[in-house]
Amino acid sequence: PNTGQGKIDAQTGPLAEALTDPNIRLETGAHVDWLEAAPDGKSIAAIHYTQNGAQKTLSPKLVILSAGAINSAAILLRSPSAKGKGLANSSDQVGRNFMNHNSSAMLAIDPRRRNNSVYQKTLMLNDYYLSDGKGGKPLGNVQLLGKIDGNMLKANVKTMPKFVLDFMAGHAVDWYLMCEDLPDPESRIMVDGKEIVMQWRRSNMQSLEGLTKVMRENLRACGYPIVLSRPFDKRTPSHQCGTVKMGNDPATSPLDPFCRAWDHRNLFIVDGGFLPTSAAVNPALSIAAQALRVADYLRKTELAA
Ligand SMILES: Cc1cc2nc3c(=O)[nH]c(=O)nc-3n(C[C@H](O)[C@H](O)[C@H](O)COP(=O)(O)OP(=O)(O)OC[C@H]3O[C@@H](n4cnc5c(N)ncnc54)[C@H](O)[C@@H]3O)c2cc1C
Repeated sequence: PNTGQGKIDAQTGPLAEALTDPNIRLETGAHVDWLEAAPDGKSIAAIHYTQNGAQKTLSPKLVILSAGAINSAAILLRSPSAKGKGLANSSDQVGRNFMNHNSSAMLAIDPRRRNNSVYQKTLMLNDYYLSDGKGGKPLGNVQLLGKIDGNMLKANVKTMPKFVLDFMAGHAVDWYLMCEDLPDPESRIMVDGKEIVMQWRRSNMQSLEGLTKVMRENLRACGYPIVLSRPFDKRTPSHQCGTVKMGNDPATSPLDPFCRAWDHRNLFIVDGGFLPTSAAVNPALSIAAQALRVADYLRKTELAA
């Protein structure tokens, strides 16, 4: 229960009871392989998973899939279905609209000043979120990165000597520039046997170019003689979302607004996949907020006595 003071009480509430209830089992080390639909296709009849090398099956009343935007889409696409397009996919949108963020790391370096910060990630600015500051198009969000060190730089710039990178990192204030990636049905997660294929078609790169330009000017004006930046590429899909989007229309979205699959009444998919747009902010709190909203809905509907 919410104690009313912003704290969830896991010591005495239903969660604690659930964790000590002998009828409830938490399975760990379980890799979900695929879901099986009931013969009429309208619900999920079984979860097939691998645990310690053994193939196992569960048949719960309610299935909540939360494997992340890439893996949930892959599990659904791998699952057999009458039309061969995977489960929850009569809209043909599962795996599509894959979004990440268009992001860059920016290092503002002043060789005369050491940055001894430990917990650096404490500041963000949205001055360019709604426009470029001159009435132009939206650019995005700017926030401090966790403190970069020489090892992290070395992983990206292998040819530069480590002592140079240590000096640069030690004298840098490190920023993270984040711009919205827009939904595109051809930006896709697909499966090829056991492999996952990521075909990320990024969009709206001009916002990242604009934000990089304006922040470079700002940091130079603040007195940093060296400002370096590098965009993140597809090896960093850390803000993955959009692949199993929610919406009001079963023809165009796999999920309803409470994350229930339109096609299978006992299947809920609650992870970054439900987000229909990526915005230009970190996604974890929005995903958690929706998870709490869906849990409340389940309590009042599916789990009501
Ligand atoms: C380096 C890094 C830094 C980040 N920093 C921030 C930040 O500062 N702020 C922020 O808001 N967000 C941040 N994010 C993004 C944030 O972590 C994700 O958006 C968020 O965790 C996504 O939640 P999710 O529930 O969709 O998936 P996840 O949190 O990825 O959870 C999916 C879970 O499913 C499990 N799983 C996957 N496949 C299977 C399977 N087949 N069988 C069983 N289990 C499976 C995975 O092991 C995982 O535990 C960061 C991400 C990264 C990688």
